Amino acid sequence: MDQTASAAAVLTARCCIVGGGPAGMMLGFLLARAGVDTVVLEKHGDFLRDFRGDTIHPSTLEVMHELGLLDDFLERPHNEMRQLEGQIGMERLVIADFSHLPTRCKFIALMPQWDFLDFLAAQARRYPSFRLEMECEASDLIVEDGRIAGIVAATPRGALQIRADLVIGADGRHSTIRQKAGLEIIDLGAPIDVLWMRIPKHADDPPQTLGRIDTGRILVMLDRGDYWQCAFVIRKGGFEEIRQRGLPALREEIARLAALDRARLEELRDWSDIKLLTVAVDRPSATRRTRCRPSAASASTSPSRMRSPPPTSWCRGCAAAATSVRRSTRCSAGAGCRRASSSACSC
Ligand SMILES: Cc1cc2nc3c(=O)[nH]c(=O)nc-3n(C[C@H](O)[C@H](O)[C@H](O)COP(=O)(O)OP(=O)(O)OC[C@H]3O[C@@H](n4cnc5c(N)ncnc54)[C@H](O)[C@@H]3O)c2cc1C
Repeated sequence: MDQTASAAAVLTARCCIVGGGPAGMMLGFLLARAGVDTVVLEKHGDFLRDFRGDTIHPSTLEVMHELGLLDDFLERPHNEMRQLEGQIGMERLVIADFSHLPTRCKFIALMPQWDFLDFLAAQARRYPSFRLEMECEASDLIVEDGRIAGIVAATPRGALQIRADLVIGADGRHSTIRQKAGLEIIDLGAPIDVLWMRIPKHADDPPQTLGRIDTGRILVMLDRGDYWQCAFVIRKGGFEEIRQRGLPALREEIARLAALDRARLEELRDWSDIKLLTVAVDRPSATRRTRCRPSAASASTSPSRMRSPPPTSWCRGCAAAATSVRRSTRCSAGAGCRRASSSACSC
């Protein structure tokens, strides 16, 4: 074993999932339930993040039922949204009525995402094949023989290698795994951004969740028991302009749209009370970046095997092969790799 590899602790698993968000935790649960030896890595020490995907839809609740999780899940504190009301100008109407859905739960459950993730983690831990590593941040891929053989991660206890047959990037929209794997994103474009904020709720406020639409303005108010979780839709990239107009102007605009007493908006004390959600609509491309770079993981984990550093214009597979004793690897990265015309390289 080389120097770096011996310094880093090594974990092995059949499947390594990077990211303990809703996607990673649910997949971790499903694989563990199917008996697959799975480790989920989460870079944070807990799941506490505000204003995330807190709405759990009837179709998701149906899946929870099929998995036998629904009853336990609904024991956790949550709100149930059975109707969605809207107000367009002065006219109030029911926009959605979930009572007709052919599902067990005819409502959207509102639950903080950290409770949902804690619940999934607890359910997954019932299976011996499940491991969750918190405070474990994946930084690179381990590439061997042109295939991804695991990941390199940083933990408070030092570097960790996780070797796995399958690595899954569920690490969110700014995915490190996607970037290191050279996977392209197709940006489909979105015309809006959203500002999230909390406004105190009073006993005589309308009980149901409300969407308010008025001349170029949309405000959605989600009933969270003792407060309204509000989403104020703005023009894409328009947040800086709103900041320049000042917080009092924003408070005024929201109070008018929500038909609330302006004093209630004083709860928004500074800009840290307002979270910008930059809306993105994108899809992974079927292709990888044509110009691929050598893997930092393969370079840093095998220094003693490296004869000379591979050129930066080589792809991961070729670079990894160059740092390895086994040099017969074929390049599978496709066009773009500038490795000299060697019989071992097919790109
Ligand atoms: C302000 C805001 C409001 C939102 N409101 C709603 C809403 O009301 N309803 C709704 O349905 N959706 C909402 N969303 C979207 C919803 O939160 C996301 O769709 C959902 O969280 C995506 O899940 P995910 O598991 O794919 O990614 P994420 O939730 O982003 O999870 C990725 C996880 O990976 C971890 N991670 C990242 N990099 C690494 C790494 N290198 N190593 C280890 N771990 C890593 C992160 O810490 C995170 O826990 C909102 C999002 C935001 C930002």
